[in-house]
Amino acid sequence: MSTETLEFQAEARQLLQLMVHSIYSNKDIFLRELISNASDALDKRRLAGLQDDRLRADDPHIRIEADKEARTLTVRDNGIGMTRDDVVGLIGTIARSGTAETLRRLKENKENKESAELIGQFGVGFYSVFMVADKVTLLTRKAGEETGTRWESDGDGTYTIETVEDAPEGTAVTVHLRPADEEDALHDYADEWKIREIVKRYSDFISFPIRLGDETLNSMKALWARPRSEVKDEEYHEFYRHVSHDWSDPLEIIQMRAEGTFEYEALLFLPSRAPHDLFQRDARHGIQLYVKRVFIMDDTRELLPSHLRFVKGVVDAADLSLNISREILQQDRHIQMIRRRLAKKVLSTIKDLMRNDVEKYRTFWREFGAAVKEGLLDAGEDHKAILDIASFASTEGEEPTSLADYVTRMKEGQDKIYFMAGESRAQIENSPHLEAFRAKGYEVLLLTDPVDEIWTESVREYDGHELRSVARGAVDLSEEDEVSEERTGAYAPLLTWLGETLDDVKDVRLTTRLTSSPACLVSDSEGLTPALERMYRAMGQ
Ligand code: ADP
Ligand code: MG
Repeated sequence: MSTETLEFQAEARQLLQLMVHSIYSNKDIFLRELISNASDALDKRRLAGLQDDRLRADDPHIRIEADKEARTLTVRDNGIGMTRDDVVGLIGTIARSGTAETLRRLKENKENKESAELIGQFGVGFYSVFMVADKVTLLTRKAGEETGTRWESDGDGTYTIETVEDAPEGTAVTVHLRPADEEDALHDYADEWKIREIVKRYSDFISFPIRLGDETLNSMKALWARPRSEVKDEEYHEFYRHVSHDWSDPLEIIQMRAEGTFEYEALLFLPSRAPHDLFQRDARHGIQLYVKRVFIMDDTRELLPSHLRFVKGVVDAADLSLNISREILQQDRHIQMIRRRLAKKVLSTIKDLMRNDVEKYRTFWREFGAAVKEGLLDAGEDHKAILDIASFASTEGEEPTSLADYVTRMKEGQDKIYFMAGESRAQIENSPHLEAFRAKGYEVLLLTDPVDEIWTESVREYDGHELRSVARGAVDLSEEDEVSEERTGAYAPLLTWLGETLDDVKDVRLTTRLTSSPACLVSDSEGLTPALERMYRAMGQ
């Protein structure tokens, strides 16, 4: 059979370069990534087997083979496998959004420890194998197909690919290990003791047996079914990495269990960083659905509202059919009930963080607040809970404030919560609209996320206090913003001239609202605020 040599896609090549020069200090994790892929492939094959008997695998498992002499390590699975096109598309390219941006930042930070964090956030998956390999061979055959594919690369910029007749079903990745680190004998990945240690540490919960010789290395215990007190944080963190494909530690762990007519267990995680695609339409949602310990599907959007799409984890429902489809899920009453409970639990967990761990709360809100606020746009029963955990920059102090704290600082006679929305804190702070509020000592919230412009249109109060934009006309600062007829008369020629000269302005008025700026633009009480006008214009409306 002829062998073809192909080039990695440009971005994949750059990422490989970074791996070859291993900017990530913990090389052990390459094995975790290979096992994680093998486990995903076994899950996929099990699902395919439900549709088509012939695709079913006897004894689904992962096998590790080490050869100390040849310095190779092989991770073999009898999972779904890949076609030749799959291999080219999945292994030769990176389709993830935000790749170019991450690579640019990685290059800038090459020497710096932030780069380790960045690469962790990005999660390089299969490519991490090039931290320890000078050559990698992948032999695969898709379940149900006649021929297999052999792929090989030394991580430089090209790979070879050929069709082979005798590949077993599933995938085997053979790592040709680089010469052992002279100073560090611990990095001998062909050593069985080392392999045992890594599997135990990173992959213990994997639900298929991971075998080395006759021995099964992992306990296969579902983490969500074990009492919290028995599980080490490190185990939760590894599980999080497996379900999220994120390399960082999660910010918070949430465990739930419901008994009775409809039983389920949930193990959820708040990540510590927003993913690159948080605001992209096709962003992966984070919940895996299991039925009685058996994986059913990824990306289960039905289990959490979209404003909580960044939450990762597993829901294991006892009473669903193993054949359940997405269409059925959407209509299932129990699923809707679980979704409501999970959403409430996530929001209440964040509220607890706000009280008990302000640092964590602030990290959370900085990363995910803008997404959570999208929940204020739907009919939602959770508006109050979302407003309770929201915080906003403010004219008082550097740290964001909650609405409840704002209320405790309201001045005598102030009954409204004032805010101004805009592009940035600096831009808002320079706005003439704020002057009269500053002069009166009223605190104003400074809202800078695009979504703020929208939810403030429909959510009009918090805890009995009206939410009021200072950019609107007729803002009542107790005295009326009205100037006597007499004074207006004196300025009539100037006002008329301004009105005629400024085409886009509806009306020109004298005001008492300003204390140091000569003029400012005000929207109608009912009209669009400037930022909303900008947003609609950008959307071509
Ligand atoms: P991720 O696992 O986050 O998708 P990886 O870089 O680890 O990213 O793997 C890329 C893709 O290659 C996987 O999504 C999968 O489709 C495919 N793949 C990798 N390893 C295997 C395997 N052992 N069996 C089948 N497909 C695999
Ligand atoms: Mg992977």
